[in-house]
Amino acid sequence: MICVEEAEKIVLDSVTRIDSEEVRITEAYGRTIAETVMSDDDIPCYDNSAMDGYAVRKEDVASASQDSPVELELIEEIPAGTIPQKTVEAGTAIKIMTGAPIPEGADAIVILEDTESDGSKVKVLAPVTKDHIRPKGEDIAAGSRVIEDGTLLRSQEIGMLASVGRQQIKVARRPRVAILSTGDEVIPHDQPLERGKVRNSNAFTLRGLIQDAGAVPIDLGIAKDTKNELRRALKRGLNADLLITSGGVSVGEYDFVKDALEEVGMELKYWKVQMKPGKPSVFGTIGKTLAFGLPGNPVSVMVGFEVFVRPAILKMMGRKEVRRPLVHAILDDEKVKHKGKRRSFVCGRVRVAAGAFHVTVRGPQGSGMLRSMSRANALLVLPKDTPAPQKGDTVSVLLLDNPRIE
Ligand code: AMP
Ligand code: MG
Repeated sequence: MICVEEAEKIVLDSVTRIDSEEVRITEAYGRTIAETVMSDDDIPCYDNSAMDGYAVRKEDVASASQDSPVELELIEEIPAGTIPQKTVEAGTAIKIMTGAPIPEGADAIVILEDTESDGSKVKVLAPVTKDHIRPKGEDIAAGSRVIEDGTLLRSQEIGMLASVGRQQIKVARRPRVAILSTGDEVIPHDQPLERGKVRNSNAFTLRGLIQDAGAVPIDLGIAKDTKNELRRALKRGLNADLLITSGGVSVGEYDFVKDALEEVGMELKYWKVQMKPGKPSVFGTIGKTLAFGLPGNPVSVMVGFEVFVRPAILKMMGRKEVRRPLVHAILDDEKVKHKGKRRSFVCGRVRVAAGAFHVTVRGPQGSGMLRSMSRANALLVLPKDTPAPQKGDTVSVLLLDNPRIE
């Protein structure tokens, strides 16, 4: 049985980058960019004022103070958007607004607060200590890289794209992820429960996880535990970029998913990983499709997705950083169950208190208990071959959501 690191590596090594598509920048939020963006322009494209005030020659106002102000003649006024016509010469100043171009001759802005004016003259009450000039190209120099290929487009990147005048942008196509739920006991979620049956929750958990990763879920429904039916259902998922099954990959009498995957052409890359939950996990490739056979327990599905599938989706889209943040947190519980034979992932709730991460285990640690996951915002990661941590110990925690700040 391989360890989690080996399995992660096998998965990531199997990923190839997905093709790209052009979208308008208004549609690009949350997508992953598939080109490197350069700026043709200097931004700002002219030296401009960072403040409302007066454009002056520094040397003219060097001796200015409250008690002996320097008086300058006002020769022009430049609101933002207008071009100065005059040159600042000795003894003169030009009134200027934030963002307006710096007139010829001026080398600093005296801020409004340091002046008094009657409209034709201005009294400067303090020397210039800061120029308040935003030089041309200060934000972005012409010819420089603005956004690297593979970056997640957040608001600031979309704003940058607008700043450099882009209308269209290449982004990674959203990977299509087929979901197949398996199990004779699994019934559609809108059916009444009866003895021996469970409602299909995995398809819905996966749907959210897939969307959150930036991909598109395709639900293939529920297949019964027969090779025939599994093969038939799996074939419908083969034109997806990824295929995820839940259930039926263990060593039980009716666990046929691994066989069925191989029968539809999967090249097996691994089966069984030293992790808890999620040990009987299968991975392989079917042509260009990455196939993940996750165990059926609702928490195993989520953990398997977080550890293997999500990084694969992000890498496929070209992202460099494919992992969730892993932080150190202080354990606030007396004890956490951990035998140490496998790496354990435990539902936890992280909070920040006095600048430090603290974590508590959420609910019973059973892999069937989605409720514990619902109350969690993190997964404790307890390494193989280490003893169970005690209260006050530092543990590694994978952050799935923003922690609560106290
Ligand atoms: P399996 O991996 O097939 O042995 O299933 C493990 C456990 O997960 C069993 O208790 C199943 O009933 C449960 N399970 C399997 N598939 C689903 C599903 N789609 N939704 C909710 N529970 C499931
Ligand atoms: Mg089953």
